[in-house]
Amino acid sequence: MFTLEVMTEKDTRELQEEIRNLAKEKNAVILAHYYQRPEVQDIADFIGDSLELSRKASQTDADIIVFCGVRFMCETAKIVNPNKKVLHPNPESGCPMADMITAKDVLKLKEQHPDGEVVAYVNTSAEVKAVSDICVTSANAVKIVQKLQSKKIIFIPDQALGNWVKRHVPDKEFVIWQGFCPPHFEFTAKEVQKLKNMYPDAKVAVHPECHPKVIQMADFVGSTSQIINYATTCDAKRVIVITEVGLKYTLMKRNPHKEYIFPESMNYCGSVYCCTMKAITLPKVYETLKNELNEVVLPEDIIEKAKRPIMRMLELS
Ligand code: SF4
Repeated sequence: MFTLEVMTEKDTRELQEEIRNLAKEKNAVILAHYYQRPEVQDIADFIGDSLELSRKASQTDADIIVFCGVRFMCETAKIVNPNKKVLHPNPESGCPMADMITAKDVLKLKEQHPDGEVVAYVNTSAEVKAVSDICVTSANAVKIVQKLQSKKIIFIPDQALGNWVKRHVPDKEFVIWQGFCPPHFEFTAKEVQKLKNMYPDAKVAVHPECHPKVIQMADFVGSTSQIINYATTCDAKRVIVITEVGLKYTLMKRNPHKEYIFPESMNYCGSVYCCTMKAITLPKVYETLKNELNEVVLPEDIIEKAKRPIMRMLELS
């Protein structure tokens, strides 16, 4: 049994090798979100943001999917692959924003706004997706909402992304749920200004889950994968990146000739840091895959209903 506390670099390398061998033996694919720990990203077959990983999950021919991400991501993989075994290395690892709305809340909103179409950020539980009309990610939300026929949009659960979309789709009426992502939303404009003062030549790239006042200060606003493209290819030598600190690892690998400045904040675990994403560790991935533990199980009717808004998103994006 490996534990994180006693792992040396050599232990890490050996464990990574064992995980890769197991994955080959069992015909398993390992998917990891960009916010995962670097040593976990290094064992993944695919690293991506929510949209890229949903696509990969829907296309894989592996027998087992090991999903290194938070619970709603594993559920999405199961919904698009109901006959495959989806394993979650840490079932405790959920998304606080996804937990800010329930299916009951959505049904109530629908009752209050019968002419509205429910647009669910993919960061929602399977039960919430099952009562929604279409899913979106931060990469495709604006484009998808622009394409919808409905004049009234019920946007759940992220207020920051909802307001960002509203700004870009002024011809529609919006009802926006007041959920938020603690690591992104609690980062303040004052802290961004401090960084801008320290690095006046830097461009600022911001995730749309950030507070509107932080978004206002950005040179670029986009999803995780859009930020990667911008930060690694823009003219500036330095980029201040306001999103989860795990992304720094990918940026350095893609273009090590630039400087990426990530904020240090006192308001959530020391920086824009998602504690639940980091709750997936190499030893947990190893135990989960070796013993085929923590299988994601969802009721059939929920899978059936939740699949519709996800597939609709994949078709439209
Ligand atoms: S970064 Fe925010 S939205 Fe993403 S999993 Fe963590 S809490 Fe949820």
